[in-house]
Amino acid sequence: MVDRLVNSEANARRIAMVESCFGSSGQMLAVPGRVLVGEGVLTKMCRKKPKSRQFFLFNDILVYGTILISKKKYSTQHIIPLEEVKLESLDDDGPFRNGWLICTASKSFAVYAATTTEKSEWMAHINKCVEDLLRKSGKKPIDEHAAVWTPDSDATICMHCKKSHFSMLNRRHHCRKCGAVVCGPCSSKKFVLAHQSLKPVRVCLTCYDTLTKRKISEPVFPESKADGTIANGDSSGEDDSDEEANHNGISSTREENTKWKSMEIEAKILPCWSATVC
Ligand SMILES: [Zn+2]
Ligand SMILES: [Zn+2]
Repeated sequence: MVDRLVNSEANARRIAMVESCFGSSGQMLAVPGRVLVGEGVLTKMCRKKPKSRQFFLFNDILVYGTILISKKKYSTQHIIPLEEVKLESLDDDGPFRNGWLICTASKSFAVYAATTTEKSEWMAHINKCVEDLLRKSGKKPIDEHAAVWTPDSDATICMHCKKSHFSMLNRRHHCRKCGAVVCGPCSSKKFVLAHQSLKPVRVCLTCYDTLTKRKISEPVFPESKADGTIANGDSSGEDDSDEEANHNGISSTREENTKWKSMEIEAKILPCWSATVC
C-alpha cells in the first residue's frame, strides 16, 4: 500500500499540507519515495510535564511539532529518522496510560495515545516502517539508544547522592547516560557518548565510573571546577528544545487534542493509515 502511494497525487498533496502547516519553521519534507503514512496527536512526556504534540509518520521519518492551531499551524519541528528508532511498550501507570517509548541514538522519550487501540496502531505502523526500511537498506538496527530522561517532577532530591534538595538555586541536571535527575556535583563529569554527540556530555558519577572502567582507552573530559558545575553554559535542557513552546492557549486545547480523533476519521483523511499493516 505504501509503495502504491509513493507517486500518488494524494500523497504529494498531504505532504505539501504538512509542510505548509510548519511553514518556514520546518524543513522540506517532499522527497522522492517518501509517503505520509498517518498522523495524529500524542501526548509527549517532556522534561517538565506531558505535552500535546502533533505527530506525522512517514515511511522513513517521524516528524512532530508543537500545535499552535490544530490541523493548521505547527512549530518547533523535530525529525527522527526511523532507521534508528526502537519502540518499547510501557505499562499503564496511574494517569499515564497507553504509552510507549520512542528510543533513538540521540534522544528517547515516552508518548501516550488516547486509547489502547491507537497505541497499538501507532506502534504497529511505526514498527512496520522501521522493518521495511531496514530490510530495504540491509542495515542493522542500532543497539545503543539515548536514555529516557526522568521528568524533573519525579525528583525533589538528587537521585545520585539522595541528599541534595533541588531549588531555584540548586538546579536539576540530567545524566545523558542513564537519564537520572542529579545535582551539579553529582554530574560534574563529562564523557563522550559517541552515539549521542561528538562532544562530551554530562553524566552522573555512577555512569562516569562505569564508562571509564569499560572504555579506559577513550578520552574522558573530567570537569574540575570547584563549584562542581560544568562550564560552557550547559542548559541541561538543550536536548529538549520543544519545552518552551507551550504558551498561548495550547494547554486549554490539550485535552481535546489528546483525544485523538478516531481511526475511522484519520483513515478518511489518510486512507493509507489502516492499510499499511497487513
Ligand atoms: Zn547529588
Ligand atoms: Zn547516570
